[in-house]
Amino acid sequence: MATLEIKNLYASTDGKTLLRGLTLTIATGEIHALMGHNGAGKSTLVQVLMGNPKYQVTKGDILFDKKSILKLSPDERAKLGIFLGFQYPVEVPGVSISNFLRAAYSRLKLGEKSTLGVLEFKQKLAPLLASFGVSDDYAVRYLNSGFSGGEKKLGEILQLAVLRPKIALLDEPDSGLDVDALRKISRQLSRLAPELGILLITHYARILSYVKPTHVHVMAGGRIVKSGGHELAEKIEKDGYSGFNSANAKGGITLNQE
Ligand code: ADP
Ligand code: MG
Repeated sequence: MATLEIKNLYASTDGKTLLRGLTLTIATGEIHALMGHNGAGKSTLVQVLMGNPKYQVTKGDILFDKKSILKLSPDERAKLGIFLGFQYPVEVPGVSISNFLRAAYSRLKLGEKSTLGVLEFKQKLAPLLASFGVSDDYAVRYLNSGFSGGEKKLGEILQLAVLRPKIALLDEPDSGLDVDALRKISRQLSRLAPELGILLITHYARILSYVKPTHVHVMAGGRIVKSGGHELAEKIEKDGYSGFNSANAKGGITLNQE
């Protein structure tokens, strides 16, 4: 059982405050869907949680299993078991998926000095590739290089399946996917979900009908302004985000005033 506790978190970049008092706890077995209009601060939140040095935490705390991780580097956070699936996965020509995954797996599970052998890793990867419905050729391609949007997103979930973190932060894993790819990713996520705590950023209720959230939150102006269950996602799908702004939050202020 792992918990990630976000306590009254404030963060800024280039002198602009982007997170304004965000509080949320994610535990193993929970799927928290995080929704919100473009620019609400969703990607900022997961980048800050992972320790992207571009952002400064100015107030509040982030606790992993009750211990503050604010001073830890991104790789130290990853070693604790926190994983970030990017909204825009980076293309890395020259590094094959298989070598990338083998290196990441080895660093996380075996420490800095040892690397799992090629064949040993291949045996580990093969059944996963099969369960994702991709051929072995997929793993020899360069990481995200020339991939379609769907292939990139599939790669992020494949990383999740290989690395088996405790807390997964997934930034719009469903954006740009066709229905088949969405189903494929959802099936894999549902399979992995029981042993994970998931923060799933999305704009669409559709993925949430496959990957059932235990909690749904709406973010606006750098904080959570409303929490509920699946019905909240359905309401947003129907009515959009117009009813939600940062003034909805208790003690909230509207963004325009600052
Ligand atoms: P979301 O993922 O919810 O669409 P983001 O977290 O990407 O939102 O962005 C939140 C807000 O932060 C946006 O309005 C964006 O323009 C702003 N932002 C991001 N980086 C900077 C920066 N370096 N300077 C100023 N504003 C920024
Ligand atoms: Mg975003």
